[in-house]
Amino acid sequence: MNSTIPGSFHDRKHFFDNGIRFECTRCGACCTGEPGIVYMDRDEVRRAAAFLGIPGEVLEERMLDPFKDGYTVREAEQGRCIFYENGCVIYPVRPVQCATFPFWFQNMRSLLAWEENRLRCPGIGRGRLFSKEDILMLVEASYPVYLKVVEFIYTPG
Ligand code: SF4
Repeated sequence: MNSTIPGSFHDRKHFFDNGIRFECTRCGACCTGEPGIVYMDRDEVRRAAAFLGIPGEVLEERMLDPFKDGYTVREAEQGRCIFYENGCVIYPVRPVQCATFPFWFQNMRSLLAWEENRLRCPGIGRGRLFSKEDILMLVEASYPVYLKVVEFIYTPG
């Protein structure tokens, strides 16, 4: 599977051509509530385990489920990410999927999709101005994870 966004996405006009301000307030709204899928690759798991000072196997056993060449993160009650305990406990080494939010392909491909996130994320519209180039770079960085998540959703059983 090609894990690069088609060039046409980079070249066309976007609602974010003039940039978007964003600064995570660490409110946790995107880490709790509705169930979601967070993918971690092996390097990300290694970094998280080292950061928490626990063996990788323990992290895998208690917090992750294997998926393809990596893992999905388990959820606790009501969709809470298992790494969220009054804040993200692995924030400095959080996976690419979390570090690139909200600038994901699925959020940036249309204004409608973006507006849904804007309503949920108080970090949007404040802080640093991300240029179109910055945003496209983050969309590109998170795109392989987007494909994994889509694959996960459509994998039977
Ligand atoms: S909803 Fe937005 S502001 Fe809140 S933790 Fe997630 S990214 Fe940060």
